[in-house]
Amino acid sequence: MIKRLIDRLRGRTPPTRPVLKLNVIARENHPISRRDISSAAVKTLYRLRDSGFDAFLVGGGVRDLLLGLHPKDFDVATDATPEQVKQVFGGQCQIIGRRFRLAHVRFGREIIEVATFRAHHSQAEGEGHGRTSDDGMILRDNVWGSIEEDAERRDFTVNALYYNIADFTLWDFAGGLADIEKRQLRLIGDPETRYREDPVRMLRAIRFAAKLDFSLEQATGEPIRRLGDLLDDISSHRLYDESQKLLVSGHSGRVLELLQEYDLFRHLFPQGIPDGTSARLLALTADSTDQRIADDKSVNPAFFYAALLWGRLQEQYARLVDDGMPPVPALQQAGQRVISRQTTRTAITRFTAQTMRDIWEMQPRLENPRPRQVDALLVQQRFRAAYDFLVLREASGEDTGGWGAWWTRYQDADPGLQAELLRALEKSGSSDGGASSSNGTPSRKPRRRGPRKRKPAAAE
Ligand code: ATP
Ligand code: MG
Repeated sequence: MIKRLIDRLRGRTPPTRPVLKLNVIARENHPISRRDISSAAVKTLYRLRDSGFDAFLVGGGVRDLLLGLHPKDFDVATDATPEQVKQVFGGQCQIIGRRFRLAHVRFGREIIEVATFRAHHSQAEGEGHGRTSDDGMILRDNVWGSIEEDAERRDFTVNALYYNIADFTLWDFAGGLADIEKRQLRLIGDPETRYREDPVRMLRAIRFAAKLDFSLEQATGEPIRRLGDLLDDISSHRLYDESQKLLVSGHSGRVLELLQEYDLFRHLFPQGIPDGTSARLLALTADSTDQRIADDKSVNPAFFYAALLWGRLQEQYARLVDDGMPPVPALQQAGQRVISRQTTRTAITRFTAQTMRDIWEMQPRLENPRPRQVDALLVQQRFRAAYDFLVLREASGEDTGGWGAWWTRYQDADPGLQAELLRALEKSGSSDGGASSSNGTPSRKPRRRGPRKRKPAAAE
């Protein structure tokens, strides 16, 4: 408080600083109950309180409980510094982050993030703890503050609701409850200033709008189209993290729509929006990703990226083959090119990149299997992903010669039928490019040397 007063006298307070008004809701007037909070989070809150600190549940955990959703994690805010949190939890606790220092408290497999109340800081306060670039972007965000100040620097009003473990009250600083009621996202403070401080907030707006089915309040949505370029200054690692969250939001279909509506797509994916069957492939991939998340299954980011870049890969491939490169190296090189172009915006781990290439490079092999390779292909590590990819390509309307359906049939067949399918495949080997035979073998792709328009040819 005193520091704030001194800052104000020195004229350091940013002019757009929002003035928040605290509204405390008694425990009987809100629906949040300890039973709905993970026991790890409850223990963390109590341990902090018993050690003499303030301890609140904040962020997505509180927001999602108020909306009747299951929070994916619980964040704790406290007046204890990360070092003090470490003292309380000892070996269970690890201090992480540089740009944003916080404590991770571990309970078995669950990790509770414990963040110290932070203050907004202006450029002049530079040295060491907080740093802002000349154009207002926050570079380091480690100036400790009061809970009011902590609320001011959070992004959306619905993310600035605090549940107090001391008396089970709910503290609403920014009118977040009213916005939950209206199902809208509203930035705290002046939207443009808040996006300039941290452009990733634009992507967070899209993610929460999709995930919660909220609208963007007018003043919060309006600047995004104008300010998208600011994302170009964000590190590819941070954008990878954020795109990852967009992808596993469980609403990636809606996310893709909103990214286009707010003209942010090209800032994450510089090779542009796919069109034609590639656009349908991406939409189908988004649907199946969302379905997998709804079913609590794992999702593979490589698969998503493979679908997203498939159209561009085919163009590059066609160009290389036109220039006389043989199909196999052309496909490899095209893959290399589209991946490295993408990594200028979002980092892609080496493992993810390898998986993407495996999925792509298996497509021509699945579209032109030799009978003797069939069983070997089936047990390859990437078969499942590559097969799923082929099936989605087929569903998107791409001409795959019906091989997706063939592989489905083969896998479902008993050994007798499998042997029959292989014999039919053997026979069809001689009829290059013929129509589907009566025994259900799709036409083989003609083995061309020359270019094939926008489609990888057989890899052999
Ligand atoms: P979820 O965990 O469901 O994705 P969340 O709201 O909890 O959503 P986190 O990224 O876990 O999001 O962040 C926790 C809280 O920290 C947010 O609710 C918000 O109050 C604050 N926060 C996170 N990132 C930012 C940011 N870039 N700018 C301002 N506040 C932020
Ligand atoms: Mg969270």
